[in-house]
Amino acid sequence: MARLTRTAAMRPVVIIGAGIQGCATAFFLSQRGQPVIVLEKDHVGRHASGVNAGGVRRLGRDIAEIPLSVASMDWWNQIDQLLDIDEGFHRQFYVKVALDDAGADLASRRIQQLHRAGFQHEIWVDRDQLLCRIPHLTKSVFGGVLVEGDGWALPWKITRAFHDKAAALGAEFRTPVTVTSIDRSGEHWQVTTDKGMIETDIVVNCAGAWGAQIAKMTGDNLVIEAHAPMLVITDRQPMFLQSVVGVMGGTLSFKQLDNGSMVIGGGQRGVADAARNLTQIIPAGLSSFVMTAGRVFPHLRDVAILRAWAGIEGYTKDNLPIIGNGSQAGIIHGFGFSAHGFQLGPAVGEALADLAMARQTRVNLTPFSPHRFAGSSRRPLGVKEAL
Ligand SMILES: Cc1cc2nc3c(=O)[nH]c(=O)nc-3n(C[C@H](O)[C@H](O)[C@H](O)COP(=O)(O)OP(=O)(O)OC[C@H]3O[C@@H](n4cnc5c(N)ncnc54)[C@H](O)[C@@H]3O)c2cc1C
Repeated sequence: MARLTRTAAMRPVVIIGAGIQGCATAFFLSQRGQPVIVLEKDHVGRHASGVNAGGVRRLGRDIAEIPLSVASMDWWNQIDQLLDIDEGFHRQFYVKVALDDAGADLASRRIQQLHRAGFQHEIWVDRDQLLCRIPHLTKSVFGGVLVEGDGWALPWKITRAFHDKAAALGAEFRTPVTVTSIDRSGEHWQVTTDKGMIETDIVVNCAGAWGAQIAKMTGDNLVIEAHAPMLVITDRQPMFLQSVVGVMGGTLSFKQLDNGSMVIGGGQRGVADAARNLTQIIPAGLSSFVMTAGRVFPHLRDVAILRAWAGIEGYTKDNLPIIGNGSQAGIIHGFGFSAHGFQLGPAVGEALADLAMARQTRVNLTPFSPHRFAGSSRRPLGVKEAL
């Protein structure tokens, strides 16, 4: 496929979506002197990137995703200097505890699988060591799989910081502006919005749960589903946890913020209505992961839940994101992060900036190719596109 020759003198790269992926891409492009316009239909960090659980983990990743996650951790470890912020990343450890024999078996198989693939970052920690590090854990814990140096961050703070830094470096953010169509015009792309049209050579699709709609406008039929994972936050409790805790073979994400509140999630979904930007909470789902949290930390059984929410996220069929060139020159996709894209954000921003500038990416993006799905075939060009 013919690729455009891209230089900093070209017209601005147009990024659709100001979540973490769009803002991080804008940051890396701006840092390299490439003009950028970001179009966002709502406001910066309005969706998944502003409301997620803030888990920054390599733990438990699909093996295909580990190199990207490891590359991202390099950026997380220097996020304060990168974005001129304080305490952007709470570097702690992340552990998935085994609560029974089945969990311990799963842990052992997981670690062996990682070793075979050449990764050593997930380690088994036995019951006594774990209780020493997290004294409030249930005494019936078997042990856990742990990654040193994983942790958490405030999602809105990081997404906003990528935005602020990109803007300071010259990126232009236009909000609220909705992209309604994308058409080929000679060698360029015309991105039509509810506030006018922009001509560009490169479009980067960071539209999250709406990414497939944008892809379709460019001729790529990529399927994702919108879902709404839910979270709760509790009242403030005395500090007892300096790590993030999950459950082996179960679904729990548990952390304590600096003010003592706990953010708890665990795979349970509400109802997502992406067309209307709405989510609905399903209380039975909330009680399922809150009960698991009570099993892991018995002293918390009577804690008050202050608030629950859900965010709209795009899921792919294989739960790996779609990152790569579209089927037409000048179209780049980066969406479908399937509820684990916050940690990946910095490395994804770097990779999308590399693709936009036709540079070699640091990480092999083949596992994330938009073309890996059957049915992701190119749609026939419309009349305007074919001109
Ligand atoms: C409740 C919850 C908990 C999560 N917990 C974690 C976690 O602990 N760790 C982790 O790594 N990940 C987590 N995730 C996943 C993570 O939040 C997402 O993978 C990530 O934020 C996706 O970023 P994004 O930029 O692709 O999408 P988004 O943040 O959704 O941004 C896409 C943007 O595109 C805009 N857009 C869409 N269509 C158009 C259009 N036509 N014109 C203009 N703009 C448009 C949208 O308005 C939106 O703002 C969680 C997600 C949720 C919902």
